[in-house]
Amino acid sequence: MTLGRQPSHQKKASTVMGSQRKCDGEYGPGTIESDDEIENYSGSGSDSEDEIKQRQKIGGVKDFFQDFDFVETVKDYHRDSWEDVLEYIKTPRERDVSARIARIRQEELKKEKVDSDSKGAESESPENLENTDEIFVPDPAKKDALKVRELDLKRKEKIKDRPIKDKRTKEQIQQDEENAKFFEDAPPVNYDITFLEMNLSRSLLKAIDSLGYETPTPIQAATIPVALQGRDICGCAATGTGKTAAFMLPILERLIYRPPDDAVTRVLVLLPTRELCVQVFQVTKDLSKYTNIDTALSVGGLDLRTQVARLKTMPDIVIATPGRLLDHLKNTPNFGIDGVEILVLDEADRLLDEHFEEQMKDIMNQCSAKRQTMLFSATMTDKVQKLALVSLKNPVKVFVDSNTDVARNLRQEFIRLRSQASREAVLAYLVTRTFSHHTMVFVPRKALCHRFVIMLGFLGIKAGELHANLKQTERLLSLQKFKEGENGVLIATDVAARGLDIKGVKTVINYTLPKTYARYVHRVGRTARAGHGGRSITLAADNEYSMLREIKKCSKSALFERVIDKDILDAYTMKLVKVEPLIKKVFEEEQEEKKLRMMEEAVNKMEKKLKDTGGKEKKLREIGAKMNLKTN
Ligand code: AMP
Repeated sequence: MTLGRQPSHQKKASTVMGSQRKCDGEYGPGTIESDDEIENYSGSGSDSEDEIKQRQKIGGVKDFFQDFDFVETVKDYHRDSWEDVLEYIKTPRERDVSARIARIRQEELKKEKVDSDSKGAESESPENLENTDEIFVPDPAKKDALKVRELDLKRKEKIKDRPIKDKRTKEQIQQDEENAKFFEDAPPVNYDITFLEMNLSRSLLKAIDSLGYETPTPIQAATIPVALQGRDICGCAATGTGKTAAFMLPILERLIYRPPDDAVTRVLVLLPTRELCVQVFQVTKDLSKYTNIDTALSVGGLDLRTQVARLKTMPDIVIATPGRLLDHLKNTPNFGIDGVEILVLDEADRLLDEHFEEQMKDIMNQCSAKRQTMLFSATMTDKVQKLALVSLKNPVKVFVDSNTDVARNLRQEFIRLRSQASREAVLAYLVTRTFSHHTMVFVPRKALCHRFVIMLGFLGIKAGELHANLKQTERLLSLQKFKEGENGVLIATDVAARGLDIKGVKTVINYTLPKTYARYVHRVGRTARAGHGGRSITLAADNEYSMLREIKKCSKSALFERVIDKDILDAYTMKLVKVEPLIKKVFEEEQEEKKLRMMEEAVNKMEKKLKDTGGKEKKLREIGAKMNLKTN
């Protein structure tokens, strides 16, 4: 088989892509040869030669792009979409707290050894140093004394059976009915449809196959056929349901058939946060890897020059946050969105939450009026409905699963805390003892993220942090380290982690209960995604029981209580008492370094200023000398 990759800047379409997808069977060029074998994608069968010839005739293009570049190695062929993101990260810097922890840990162990030697204890070889310290040895308790029992199921069943009262006023009901008329119901959905039956191009089928998607998820089954017809869509789907591919596959399918001519940005995807943009960018890169479709990012925090250079080429797809996009529209020459024919407003509820409303209106006005618009939101709030009314035309409503419920294959556990003080010990116990890999921990404050990275580091666990105080590149690197398993644990705040798709999260630990049930659903929704199993463990003290009751009330599946043995907990409390001075030491060193850095920066600034004024004075002297010459 020939391996090939189309260089991202080589392409282009001239005339505007029709807003309606051309009739089924009208295919353009893929980057795979017609007789290429595609293994193991959903369904079977292949395009007949006649069909392929017919498509080539209609598309009026040759089998292969003339300027197609062949890759040299299989590694190039399997290029990871993370490498595409790295292009935007020019100066990857990271707080390397792990080196500091390792050094302090080593110093402590040496100190302990000296102490024990001076007390006449048996000397031990340096390699066995670790075993001498109580902090770093495994738990004293050999057996896991966990009891897991189901919580008040009977009571819950009763609540579930109670009829739900409609609390809406008459006016609200009338308004809701009016709004409902605006949307067209989706045609009956065939949930058994395969990707092959969706008439997607071979290049996309091959990408789908390489990502391991066997069958479409419900949102994909419902959305893709409708979106391929060019219809506007208003979709409500829980995070982790495969929503990105649901809108991106039909987009890519339509872009494959764009007439090859000049450069136009035809697709714009708006999202509320940089991380979500990077995530959608990576999925897009993965799905389009066998096509010549060009995708670029326009977000804050990433290398500006790279973005400007990429946007100038008018990439087919731009994935952006509203603010940064407007900046680029003002300041980047050659870049415009008047050719945008497909607009996606993803995570619309959050776009509205984060005060992007005016900016979105501005952007929508600049896109072609004939565009296809797809709006997706986890929750259909009044604000989202209003946005749908102004941005969509005869939209089809695709509501697969509301985001008000936890995944069915999620096992929800709770730990009742005896006291607030035991919270850290419980977390240390859970993470070091059992959940040291693929675990996300949600904490209420940014400062706690860093504290726990250090605390767990001293307990031998590699953890990373994700919160708004980190630079964008630091956040991306932290996410990547967790995704790749280099860090087993990711400690995050809500804001930083909402909506992110982080593959393979097995456990979510809620260090404290979130304030709302919706937020709880978002947090635990980081695991048990796309049909996989997962576990959430929530720590709850007395003052959080009302929220716990709310979760019990709303939850459709069984809830379990995890009971930790008191002796084990006491042992972990002792460990943390010993770790505390070491955490303090790390903080102090970091503060010192920060001060030094700031002084260095101040000195550099001063030097620059002096240099500048020196230069100016020299210039003034030269001008003065010239003027003197002239008057003389
Ligand atoms: P999303 O809702 O787009 O964030 O996707 C959630 C996860 O589901 C991602 O990790 C996707 O790779 C995965 N996914 C999307 N579509 C499929 C599919 N058809 N089969 C299996 N996994 C999928």
